[in-house]
Parts: sequence; C-alpha cells; structure tokens
Amino acid sequence: MKNRVYNFAAGPSMLADEVLSELHEEFFNYHDSGMAVMEMSHRSKGYLEIFEDAKARLKRIMEVPDDYEIFFMHGGATAQFAAVPMNLLKKKADYIITGNFSRKAAQEASKFGEVNIVYDGKENDYSRIPSSEELNLSEDADYVHLCSNNTIYGTEWKKYPDTGATPLIADMSSDILSRRIDMSDFGLIYAGAQKNIGIAGIAVVIIRKDLIIEADPKTPQIMDYALTLKNDSMLNTPSTYAIYVLGKVLKWIEEIGGIKEIERRNIEKAGLLYDYLDSQSFYQPHAEKDSRSLMNVTFRTANEELDAKFVSEAAKLGLCNLKGHRLVKGIRASIYNAMPIEGVKKLVEFMDEFARENG
Ligand code: PMP
Repeated sequence: MKNRVYNFAAGPSMLADEVLSELHEEFFNYHDSGMAVMEMSHRSKGYLEIFEDAKARLKRIMEVPDDYEIFFMHGGATAQFAAVPMNLLKKKADYIITGNFSRKAAQEASKFGEVNIVYDGKENDYSRIPSSEELNLSEDADYVHLCSNNTIYGTEWKKYPDTGATPLIADMSSDILSRRIDMSDFGLIYAGAQKNIGIAGIAVVIIRKDLIIEADPKTPQIMDYALTLKNDSMLNTPSTYAIYVLGKVLKWIEEIGGIKEIERRNIEKAGLLYDYLDSQSFYQPHAEKDSRSLMNVTFRTANEELDAKFVSEAAKLGLCNLKGHRLVKGIRASIYNAMPIEGVKKLVEFMDEFARENG
C-alpha cells in the first residue's frame, strides 16, 4: 500500500496491511452476498459465521480452556472497569495500581464495594511493576485486579502474582495477544480491541465459567455477564464490524505463525529499541529495566522542547504519533503486533541521527 506511515499511536493504532487489504477487497460485497458486512443483520447466517469464526480463532490462538467463556461486549475496557465489580465484587476487592488505567478501574470499583489498594506506584512515577512481596493482598478478597501492560508509562508485568484461590483479573487492553499467557492463571481478562486485535467498538472478555454469578441487581443488562452468556454476546446488536475486523486480525495472526511468532517479533522489535536506549545517554528511558513493556516504549530527551522537536521531525519522515502521554510527557513509541520491524529499525536510525545532531 502506498503512502502509509509508521503509526506509533497508543490506540487506536496500526492494522497489518494484509488485514486492511482483505477488508478492502470485501468491503462492498462480502462473499458474494451483495452486501457490506456492516449492512448485514447480526442474526443472519452470513454474519453468525463471521461471529463464530472470530470466537473460535480467539479460543484457538489463546488456547482458552473449555471452562472459560468468551464475550464480545460494548463500551471498551472502560465499561469493564464497572462491569467487573458489578458482577463480581460482593464484599471486597484488591486493586494493584501501576498506572492511570488501573487507578481508574479502582475508582470505578469503589462505587460498588470496598476497594483495597494493595500497591500504588505513584512514588516511583509508575516506572516499575511491584514484586510479590510488595503487595499487601487480603485473605478474603473477591478478586485481585491488575493492569498487565501500562500503556502510558510503558511498564508490563513479566510474572503475575500468585493469588492462590482468589481470582486474578487483568486489564490486557494494551498487551492482549502480544505474548503467550496461561489463561488458567486468570479468573477473567478483558481488553479493548483497538490496539492489538482490531478496532474500537468492542471489548473482549474471557471469564472462567464459575465466576459467572448473579450480578448486583442494579447492573445494567448490557453489563451483566450471566445475561451476556445467556444471549451469546447478542443481548442487543453487537458491534458487528468491529467483531468482523477482530476475526481478520486473528486470521492474520494464525497465518503468520500464531502467538509464538507474534511474541518472537515483539521481543525482537522491543529489543532493538531498548538495546539502542541502553547504548547511549542522549535519551532516558522511563521504565525500569525489568519492568519494560514490549508494547509501549517510553523515553525522553533532556528537555520538553527537544522532545517536541523530535516528535515533529520524526513525523516528517513518516514516523508518526510519537508524542508521550501528557502524564509522563517525553516520547512514546507504541509498537503493537501490527507494527512491522522495518518501522522500528527506521525509528532507531532516526533516534541515532537526531541524537548526533542535537546532542
Ligand atoms: N486500559 C488500558 C491499559 C488502556 O490502554 C486503555 C486505553 N488506552 C483503557 C483501559 C481504556 O480503554 P477504552 O478506551 O477501550 O475504554
């Protein structure tokens, strides 16, 4: 495809060229139906095939065990900040705060029950992930909630805490399908689709069946897990096109070699950036070494003016959306699954050139 830039945005973000061209091919006339997917009834045979295909691929790629259910829900990850406590918080829940989104999740949960903040990394400006010893987990929590990749700060859990019999719940919005995980470590995971697995409009929820219990009676139907299960994620009209795009992204992942290959590529891409950052002193990385994210690489130059110059000069070369989030400032390169290695190589070349010219 011509005139495509390398889009380092934190989300919505890049889709693979292969995915975009398939969407393009099928745009006006999906499989000789004479219709675009977005014109199809969600109850039609043609659409139900798309829906089931996406679900089956996700189950296969993530090796989701049979005692888990997969839901496609509305409202992005933010709706899950509320849905999780409305469905599962009966008495008390433990929340681990490693950044902005985990704080938002805890704030939302505190509307529905007792929230116990077992760790908050604000003292170190969310530059690292805590060790298990730093977590003051409760004996009797309904669940423990964490955010597996902190999009804004560029940190990521490498090893999840052992929560024993207490279900572990993870917001995986910015690292779902970026690396292998063992689903059985979790009671529930959720993710907005718009970074690693598609476009805005759906959240994927994977939940262990025994956690689908009676929700708080005030829970809106659309956020109720038991009703979602009963209606197979079609309590109302689902985000039909976003689910279709998810299926295409999953097909692409399977065609290039599955999650193992995705993980290999992601380690290689992030490695290029971190190796470069470690080899020089012009840029300072934000995240501590053992907490570094494979998805969002955060760093800064000596001052904000230079950061701004970096971002604008990079954009002129087709390296776009590198401005850091306002909470951390500096520079952030989001290198989700669809970012090709060539984009990262070009960025490292530019970083080196920029450092030589401005150092
Ligand atoms: N959690 C994380 C880790 C995120 O990165 C984001 C979005 N940037 C959200 C939650 C919120 O997602 P949404 O916009 O889908 O509600």
